[in-house]
Amino acid sequence: MLTLAIALLIFTASMAYSQIKRMQRSAERVARTYQVSDAIGTLFSHYFRLESEDFREELLEEGRFEENLKDYMAEGIIVFDSLHGLVRGNASQLKLLDDIQALEDTLYENLVFAGDSINGNAKIVKGHSFPTRKISSTLFQIRNINDLMRAEERRLMQARKNEYSSNKFLAPLTTLLLGFFALFVFLVSFLLIYRNKLRVRESQAFLQNVLDTTDNIVNYYEPLFNSEKNIIDFNIVYANECNRSYLGLDPEKIIGKPISRVFPHLMLNGEFEQLIQCYEENRKLILDREILAQAGKMWFESIITPMADGILVTIRNFTEEEQVKEELVSLNERLKDQNDELLKLNQEFQIQNSIFKDAEIVAGIGSYIWHLDDGSATMSDNLYRILGYEPDSFNVSYQSYRKFIHPDDLEIYDRLGEETVEIGKSTIQNYRVIDRKGKIKHLYIKGEYVEKEGRPVSFGVVQDITSRVAKDEDLRLRNLELERSNAELQSFNQVASHDLQEPLRKIQMFISRIAGNNALSRNDGEDLKKIGNSAIRMRSLIDNLLNYSRIDFKHENFEKIDLNIVLAKVTEDLSVRIDETGATLAVDKLPVINGISFQMEQLFDNLISNALKYSSQNVTPHLVIQSEKVDCEQIPHTFYKTAKYFYKMTFADNGIGFEQDKAEKIFEVFQRLHLKSEYSGTGIGLAICKKIIENHYGFIYTTSEPGKGSVFVIYLPA
Ligand code: ADP
Repeated sequence: MLTLAIALLIFTASMAYSQIKRMQRSAERVARTYQVSDAIGTLFSHYFRLESEDFREELLEEGRFEENLKDYMAEGIIVFDSLHGLVRGNASQLKLLDDIQALEDTLYENLVFAGDSINGNAKIVKGHSFPTRKISSTLFQIRNINDLMRAEERRLMQARKNEYSSNKFLAPLTTLLLGFFALFVFLVSFLLIYRNKLRVRESQAFLQNVLDTTDNIVNYYEPLFNSEKNIIDFNIVYANECNRSYLGLDPEKIIGKPISRVFPHLMLNGEFEQLIQCYEENRKLILDREILAQAGKMWFESIITPMADGILVTIRNFTEEEQVKEELVSLNERLKDQNDELLKLNQEFQIQNSIFKDAEIVAGIGSYIWHLDDGSATMSDNLYRILGYEPDSFNVSYQSYRKFIHPDDLEIYDRLGEETVEIGKSTIQNYRVIDRKGKIKHLYIKGEYVEKEGRPVSFGVVQDITSRVAKDEDLRLRNLELERSNAELQSFNQVASHDLQEPLRKIQMFISRIAGNNALSRNDGEDLKKIGNSAIRMRSLIDNLLNYSRIDFKHENFEKIDLNIVLAKVTEDLSVRIDETGATLAVDKLPVINGISFQMEQLFDNLISNALKYSSQNVTPHLVIQSEKVDCEQIPHTFYKTAKYFYKMTFADNGIGFEQDKAEKIFEVFQRLHLKSEYSGTGIGLAICKKIIENHYGFIYTTSEPGKGSVFVIYLPA
């Protein structure tokens, strides 16, 4: 628009100039016409002066005619030439002037002729001989031409005046109009320029806003050249706020600096060359990369756009997208894992379900789900079987199931239902049903109440405990029996400890009295001695039996016992026998155990006494007592092991030994391997040992060989 305005202005000026020029020219032409008219007037008045009497007289002045004529003719030539010069461009006037010239020649000839006659006759001078008629006719012709020339000039004058006045009018008007037009165009272009400027300003503000609020880094670089015109670096001309948030770079501080200093990695990883290429080949470039920025691992996509003087670098941060992608991937993996797990779980469930079904059959268990709101129910296959039916052979409901309940237990069953609804479970766990074949079955029930899909539901398991109830009954009866025999035993105990002791003591007392009587024969004395021994034996038998029966399974008296002390006490008690036999003992350090002290004493006493008693003839008894701690897994014998570690104690003697096949038998009551005539005893000692060991959760066994000694091994929990 501005260019147009300037062009218009130049055009207007040139138009005005040419208009003025034209006006000037037409003015000049008008002036020329005036000059021509003047010159015509002058020329023709030159001719027409000849009509004047005075001029003629003057011309014909005596003696001066020749000179005057000469002057007159010279004047005529000047005037004619002047007019000729003025009408040079006008052909018709020139033609008329040619006619005039011819007439002028005629006129002058007439005049010259007149002059000649004057020189001969003075009277002519007085006017009689002047060729007036001839001149007048020439002048007449000249007058005609004069009229024609004047008419022509008038016409020209009119035309030129018209032209002038039109030019005079048009020149300022066109100038004014064009001026106005130019002004208008100027104004319009100014307004447009102003509007554009406003728009530019607006779009600048918009752009700035976009650049400030965008989450992309937007930078603009201009190349820096060396003397060979090669790009050696880029200067950062613009950088937006995102540089700070993503890269920790203050945009104010990096603007004006070369990228080699601000982003040195660009120079190393080949990106700088790509930037150059982008600028030089004017080609857009897209780069993807992952960098470690301020906020950790970030993903950027750079779009490098070549511009006229530099390159625009837009770096889009798509970390979030990547993170979302990564999260989606990991979510996907997690879901896949979960799916796998669910699949496995499902398989597991299927297996469990079939196991459960089998288990129901094996354990005699059934299960049910009972909807309390409408009484509808489902039962497991085995519950049908418990009731004597094939699975799913009838529809279950509270009412249909109630028909199976034993009439005496209906009240219990109904209360069970009420309790389940009221407190979520039932305190009643047992009722009887009558199955299809009329057999009474005892059912154990365990049910719970839950809300399932908004419906009150009771579910639970039912166990057929008919056989257990029968066994329990059996057991109860046997217990009654045991209790009775126990009471009897206790009274026997009472008898043995008190009532039998008393007559024995009396027998012994009387024997000793009779033995003190010297009048007895030798045989009687022997017999009496035997009776005495029998009484002693009987007494020790009763004592041992009492001991045996008193070892009960009560563990509240368990305490820490140092077996070294126990052993010391026992050897002290047996010291007389040890001394008598000259026996030797080799003893390890013994452990401290949990147990009942007097029972341990009895155990040690019995084992050591036996080792002394069943010694080989002519061999000094030697007893080795050893102890070690062993892992329960090292113990080959089967017994109920209550501890991880056990103390293994061995009592090895060098006595008479016995056949290995009797090794278990000797722990039974009254079992003796050797003759009571040779070895005194009651056959209860080892039975007591076994009972004590079992009472202490231990184990006892023996290995032996006749003549080679015996080894008694005991295990006690450590
Ligand atoms: P007894 O009162 O007869 O000793 P025990 O119950 O203590 O009763 O022993 C049962 C039998 O085991 C003994 O009669 C004996 O034959 C045999 N016996 C026990 N200890 C030994 C041993 N150390 N050496 C050989 N035989 C033994």
